[in-house]
Amino acid sequence: MDRCYNFCAGPAAVPEAVLEIARDEMLNWHGAGLSLMEMSHRSPEVMSVAERAERTLRELLGISDDYAVLFLQGGASTQFSAVPLNLLGSNNAADYVNTGQWSKKAIAEAKRYCNVNVVASSEDTKFSTIPPRDSWQVDSGAAYLHYTPNETIGGVEYFWTPQADVPLVADMSSTILSRPIEVSDFGVIYAGAQKNIGPAGLTLVIVRRDLLGNADDKCPAMLNWQVAADNDSMYNTPPTFALYLAGLVFDWLQQQGGLPAMEQINRRKAEKLYAAIDGSDFYANPVELASRSLMNIPFTLADAGLDKVFLQESEAAGLLNLKGHRSVGGMRASLYNAVSEAAVDALIAFMQDFEQRNA
Ligand code: PMP
Repeated sequence: MDRCYNFCAGPAAVPEAVLEIARDEMLNWHGAGLSLMEMSHRSPEVMSVAERAERTLRELLGISDDYAVLFLQGGASTQFSAVPLNLLGSNNAADYVNTGQWSKKAIAEAKRYCNVNVVASSEDTKFSTIPPRDSWQVDSGAAYLHYTPNETIGGVEYFWTPQADVPLVADMSSTILSRPIEVSDFGVIYAGAQKNIGPAGLTLVIVRRDLLGNADDKCPAMLNWQVAADNDSMYNTPPTFALYLAGLVFDWLQQQGGLPAMEQINRRKAEKLYAAIDGSDFYANPVELASRSLMNIPFTLADAGLDKVFLQESEAAGLLNLKGHRSVGGMRASLYNAVSEAAVDALIAFMQDFEQRNA
């Protein structure tokens, strides 16, 4: 069977070249006589895979030695707890920006540990905007300021980095590696892997080293970034195969020309799809122009009664996972790095044909 185009929000498309390498190396990794997933995490082979993945990631993102790079488990959702547990210290307050469903989940979790000050919210616009920085009611005594640079469900993305006097913490799950960032602007960056990094089961945390060592006494060792840093992310058995695949994705990104090249491609892909949506009365995207995500593009049909047939026909045409998140309905196309321009062209051609037949 031919491979389809996959627009899933996560777990998402993986570069085909990476899957081919993994297939070829599956039974006998580099002549070791074993699959990589069968090896001890403390073997020289797996250690070298982990080191190489970290090195390549540091090159891609320009991560200096001032930052620890941690490969953890539990998804970004676990970091919703780990962030306050590691950063509050003796402080009892943290600032959060509420721009959508993922912000809300981070806020709900943080409330277990401290007073959460919601500095700004776009809930009144149904999360279709980002409150301007000068409207935020920040607390200069907060332990940190948390925000979600790309809201995967709402399709809302910041194209600016908030200024903050306290450590800036970013849930970059659905934007990381899509374009260059200035890591030194952040205290902590975290991300679930299953969008632009690799398979589910791996979680990335990039933390400025001076923020380590403040974890609460009750912080489980598995959530304690200092413990992870001291043990090279091998305090317990890490998800070795996921890490290997992530390393292959990082190599692939370098072969594409790194993040500046990915940004160009990602902008081109997103611009095409937004142009197709805006150029028609049949499709609509609710997000303010300046905050439209490059990675997750929700859209609705003028007649929601056609949603089901749109999904059936798109799937039959080999365009998979276009159903919008259950909380918002409609459609969503996620255009992560591994989604090719050809996939976007095929989607647009399908949408135009569907409109002609149904408008
Ligand atoms: N934050 C964002 C922005 C996300 O998109 C997701 C997953 N879709 C999460 C957090 C939760 O990630 P996980 O499933 O890895 O816990």
